[in-house]
Amino acid sequence: MNAVIPISIWPKGLINCFLIKGDHKHVLVDTGVPGSEHRIFRQLEEHNIDKADIGLIIITHGHIDHFGSAAQLKKLLNVPILAHQSDLEAYTSGKADITTLKPNNPQWKLFKAMIKDQRARAFQPDILMKDDTDFSISNWGIRGKVIHTPGHTPGSISIILDNGEAIIMDMLATGILLGGIMLNSRIKHPPFHDDLRQLKSSFEKVISENGSRYYLGHGGPVSRELVIKYYNKYIDKKYR
Ligand SMILES: [Zn+2]
Ligand SMILES: [Zn+2]
Repeated sequence: MNAVIPISIWPKGLINCFLIKGDHKHVLVDTGVPGSEHRIFRQLEEHNIDKADIGLIIITHGHIDHFGSAAQLKKLLNVPILAHQSDLEAYTSGKADITTLKPNNPQWKLFKAMIKDQRARAFQPDILMKDDTDFSISNWGIRGKVIHTPGHTPGSISIILDNGEAIIMDMLATGILLGGIMLNSRIKHPPFHDDLRQLKSSFEKVISENGSRYYLGHGGPVSRELVIKYYNKYIDKKYR
């Protein structure tokens, strides 16, 4: 049985990454800020996950709080990294492309200042998703697929599992500040998305798949009802 295990990079769900348990191999989804590798390993141990059983790292998008430790983890685990071609520039340069970020709320200025100078070790993804082609993760014993869900960034991807769980990372957030702190049933506009029009089609794609529990990069997890509520409140109205 597949299951998603949340791993805290910062406490209280402020920054999350995830492990998907497979039948014979596991998949690590995102890697946190730079220097998160031992924090991740400690939590895997607490869940009795042998890190030697991890067979793949998926990077959901080109922001440092998600790919910050990718290069180090790839080296330590000796496994391939899957990512989408449209965020390749961020991965190979080790910095997020903030020129395309569009602010969603007044906290934006604070976050822009925070991320402007952040650097991570650059890496070259081993498996590059292209365009809108889905990628099956059945090779790792996981019944599910990775789909292209651009909008937050051009190369954002989401994981949809057959068991009704999904990882949609920064498509939405919950809580206060960056997300995560308190009020996790309160949906929140992330501080920025690149392209709300693209994000609208990506939400439609995600909602058209069966799903009941959605894991997020900041806050969460949320129910299908909350995903639809966010879509209706922040995305659909403006971009009919
Ligand atoms: Zn992001
Ligand atoms: Zn994020």
